[in-house]
Amino acid sequence: MPDMKDPLTTILKLPPTRKQTVIATVVGLLIIGLSMSVLPYAQNHFLEVNAFYPLFIAWVLIGDFVTSHLFYIQYRASGEKPLLILSATFLFTALIVIPHAAAFPGILPYHWVGNLEQLSLWLWLVWHIGYPIGIIKYSLHLKSENSSQPLKMGREKWLRGGMLLGTGAIVVIVTYLLYSYRADLPAFLDGHNYEKLVYSGIGPAVAVLNVIAFTMLLLRTKFNSVLHIWLTLSVFTFCLDVILTLYAGERYSVGWYMARFNALLSATAALAVLFFEVNQLYIRLTRSQVQLKQSQAHLNNTLNSLSDCFVALSNDWKYMFVNKSAEQFEGISFIEVKGKHFWVFNTHLLDTQWYEHSMRTMTEKVRTEFLWFDEPKQRWLETRMYPTEEGVSIFYRDVTLRIVSEQRMKEANEKLQMANRLLKDFSFRDGLTGVYNRRYFDQVLQQEWQSSGEAGTPLTLMLFDLDYFKLYNDTYGHQQGDECLTSVAHAVRDALSDSNAIVARYGGEEFAIILPHTDKMQAAIIAEAVRLTVEHLGIVHGVPPAFSVVTCSLGSFTMQVLPNQEGQESSLIQLADQAMYEAKQAGRNQVRIHGQ
Ligand code: GH3
Ligand code: MG
Ligand code: MG
Repeated sequence: MPDMKDPLTTILKLPPTRKQTVIATVVGLLIIGLSMSVLPYAQNHFLEVNAFYPLFIAWVLIGDFVTSHLFYIQYRASGEKPLLILSATFLFTALIVIPHAAAFPGILPYHWVGNLEQLSLWLWLVWHIGYPIGIIKYSLHLKSENSSQPLKMGREKWLRGGMLLGTGAIVVIVTYLLYSYRADLPAFLDGHNYEKLVYSGIGPAVAVLNVIAFTMLLLRTKFNSVLHIWLTLSVFTFCLDVILTLYAGERYSVGWYMARFNALLSATAALAVLFFEVNQLYIRLTRSQVQLKQSQAHLNNTLNSLSDCFVALSNDWKYMFVNKSAEQFEGISFIEVKGKHFWVFNTHLLDTQWYEHSMRTMTEKVRTEFLWFDEPKQRWLETRMYPTEEGVSIFYRDVTLRIVSEQRMKEANEKLQMANRLLKDFSFRDGLTGVYNRRYFDQVLQQEWQSSGEAGTPLTLMLFDLDYFKLYNDTYGHQQGDECLTSVAHAVRDALSDSNAIVARYGGEEFAIILPHTDKMQAAIIAEAVRLTVEHLGIVHGVPPAFSVVTCSLGSFTMQVLPNQEGQESSLIQLADQAMYEAKQAGRNQVRIHGQ
């Protein structure tokens, strides 16, 4: 069911109210009643009013022309093809009454054009054949699917041009042919009497054709719209016109006048409904225009109250709308840019990410959202683009403050993390030498002890102690002793920097080296390397029994930690310490390697 509120509903589909249906039915019944009531006197001769016929024709002519024109306008507005057929049908009746009236006795002087009496009757027949054919055509088109499908512009032009010109051509050709062969046409008219038309069968055939048209229209439309109610009534009165005319059998009889009355009603019914409904449609359209304006204003207000910038562009990149925020942000005025080309004002955006995104949104009709840095204006913009039917809608906002503070936050965070790392590292470093301290040594040894037990890999611990260091201190002073300790620690750490060794100050002038995944053989090589490193430093220690340079004694122990030995890492320290003691006992400046 078409929407009553839809201002764009075509006249074809405008549903009737109950009142309208009732009025039409009453009018229809009144006409039947009136027509029936004159039947007993139909064939009685009535006044021969010469001015009547020209007046009657003028009414029909103007009425049908206007009706045709109104249907044509409705067709142009709605594109409903059946309306074009109606327009052509009424154009046909309007046109055909012209030669018909011209040939009617008493209108044109016959001594100019020859006797046209019979021609007038024949043209009346053509009129009353053409109209029902148009109505039948209309009825058939109503149901066909493609009737309301919009035609392509070019085809549509041809169709309406062809239809209206064709109608005119038919009238001209038929008139011409009838006029040319008027002498050969059967003469149905005898004075005012045309009963021969009835007996010839042609008259009744025309009546039947009209009844068929009426029935088809009625069955196909069943009063489903205001237009169809009144069109049905128009066709109905047209049928009555034919039937009464034939029944009366003579011009200027009571029936003949009644038939003319019906013809007038027929010409007026469609016109009346068109006037009425076109007005209604116009009122609705005006109202909806106001509503449209209001809702547009409402939308603009909403868009203007947005803190985000909003720009609407048409499919050909013209400005359609710029909200207040965007005006302020870009320093432009909507009035000035309205309808102008976007890229003319935004050349700086060409060759940017912005350009690519907008192109994609416009051509592929996809939504995109992105953050980008507007280099020339040094600002970060968060942008969303939506494809619309008209083009593209763009929302964006300056997020420079947010991005900058985010970046600052990130930097501050990184600094804090670094400080934390340093602090942590610091707490694991020996204050004097810079190598790991005892605390760290304890932690790592515990971890490596555990992972050796779990992974079944060998773990080596080395302890080394400087030889005759008390003597060194006593001779060279405590401060130089500190420097010596630092040099030794750095040298050993650097010598082992490529390995996974952990070098720590164990206490006093004693150092520890943890060597994960290191077996006894590897330990022997490393131990000797450490001893040589210290010796080759060449720190003078000239007091016997020292070896003229600072040296160290090193003890190493390698073991395979067993899973059931958890937490017993102190035993490894003891074993390494024993090995170192052995090296001291054996004369110092040497290594002792033990373990599995
Ligand atoms: P040995 O060959 O048997 O190890 O003889 P040693 O003289 O090195 O004997 P011992 O281990 O008993 O002496 C340790 C000395 O190391 C005592 C102390 O003067 C010195 N020492 C310990 N810690 C420091 C320190 O932090 N700085 C300095 N300058 N000397 C230290
Ligand atoms: Mg010592
Ligand atoms: Mg010592």
